[in-house]
Amino acid sequence: MNNQMISDFAKLISNSRNIVFFGGAGVSTESGLKDYRSEDGLYNTVKKYNVSPETILSRSFFEAHPDIFYDFYYNYFLSCESEPNRAHICLAQLEKTGKLKAVITQNIDGLHQKAGSKNVIELHGTTKKHYCPKCKTAFPTEDVIALKGEVPRCRKCGSVIKPDVVLYEEQLKETVIEAAISAISAADLLIIGGTSLAVYPAAGFIRYFGGENIVLINREQTAYDSKATLVFREKIGEVLSETVKIM
Ligand SMILES: [Zn+2]
Repeated sequence: MNNQMISDFAKLISNSRNIVFFGGAGVSTESGLKDYRSEDGLYNTVKKYNVSPETILSRSFFEAHPDIFYDFYYNYFLSCESEPNRAHICLAQLEKTGKLKAVITQNIDGLHQKAGSKNVIELHGTTKKHYCPKCKTAFPTEDVIALKGEVPRCRKCGSVIKPDVVLYEEQLKETVIEAAISAISAADLLIIGGTSLAVYPAAGFIRYFGGENIVLINREQTAYDSKATLVFREKIGEVLSETVKIM
């Protein structure tokens, strides 16, 4: 870890009044979550179901094969209880100081809230909420977990319950897009972590940033590296905790 960069990052945070964090999968993987996008995840999914994870997580597949969908969904998203890591915890601390105004995440695991963050904009929804797509009745997530991959059905109308996540073939919610754009437009420091920004809609949102400084924390190179004031290649939890430590 480069001490000068950590100290520069701490200075940027001190001098900013409206910080927004934009995060991707890399924030969650440090919590040891099983990642269906990894090589293992892909291999095991195709071997077990004969289709790719992306196909299972699509709206049309959910409607045609809810049994396979829920078996996969339980296995990758509900079966293990994960804990927030240092990245989640540091971001919650920064929010408490009043400097960090919003966390925008592409993850659906609810770990930012579990760490104590209040203003979390979940672009792809959350596995912590389930509802009936037909009559909109909420279905308790603990009941979905108790079913261990069986298909949950609405107690009022019998329809298949849906996780409150944005599946492939579905659009992001308008209200969520607006909240994300409004937070990014108002920010003077944008911290981007654990995302290569290659996937829609991440890159699109970054265009709305009109502030001074972008700090990028990602293991791999991104197309935005040249626009950033600081670029870290280390683990996001490490970078944030070292930075918060010296503040
Ligand atoms: Zn219903």
